[in-house]
Amino acid sequence: MKRIFRSLLDWFRRSTEPRWRVCDVGDLPNALALSTVYVIGEDGQQWYAAMRCPCGCGDTLQLSLHAEASPRWTLRRRWDGAPTLRPSIWRRGACRSHFLLEAGRVRWV
Ligand SMILES: [Zn+2]
Repeated sequence: MKRIFRSLLDWFRRSTEPRWRVCDVGDLPNALALSTVYVIGEDGQQWYAAMRCPCGCGDTLQLSLHAEASPRWTLRRRWDGAPTLRPSIWRRGACRSHFLLEAGRVRWV
């Protein structure tokens, strides 16, 4: 019974937390909004993505989307624009967050 209650609570938490969205920009703004992946590029080319770390530490994460960069990430958008980033994001220093962004939701690893 306790387990059912906990999984219902988890589901409720997930369904009420803000869904991440994508914002295409030419330059990175000075202040990044919460739950937003900024895609920086030009002429249909995606260079890199930037986002605030979802743990709340306030750091800006920058992820290369360029095909020839290493490491690099791929960003896919669902029909409603909800972003998925692959592979996971694992900060080795600072807050040590490790998470996936899937269909607009953060999943902690
Ligand atoms: Zn963090």
